[in-house]
Amino acid sequence: MAEETIFSKIIRREVPADIVFHDDKVTAFRDISPQAPIHILIIPNKLIPTINDITEEDETMLGHMVTVAAKIAKQEGIDETGYRLIMNCNKDAGQEVFHIHMHLLGGKNLGRLVG
Ligand code: AMP
Repeated sequence: MAEETIFSKIIRREVPADIVFHDDKVTAFRDISPQAPIHILIIPNKLIPTINDITEEDETMLGHMVTVAAKIAKQEGIDETGYRLIMNCNKDAGQEVFHIHMHLLGGKNLGRLVG
């Protein structure tokens, strides 16, 4: 059984967060330590510790995370200027919270990361 993180408490509204979207599959809220003018985390309501723990039954929900990210980007007015979606997995990527999450970053030129 995977250990819960603070994100489970945010989903259950047991700790405060600036929630910008939620439905039966995902919750999205502003990052407490923003790395860009817009920095939102999109997380599954189901606890999945790392990308390595994703199974085929999660594929629909993962696609939904991307659809929701695009919807939020539009809401935040950065769909045309652009944004970046990032998911970190384990130590070398700097994953700190072991409940998978997609970072949505935008609102400034983010510079080149890869490519
Ligand atoms: P990662 O390094 O990919 O695991 O990112 C974890 C992110 O969660 C970091 O950007 C943190 O600032 C953010 N974070 C941690 N605790 C909270 C919280 N209580 N509310 C909002 N964001 C949080």
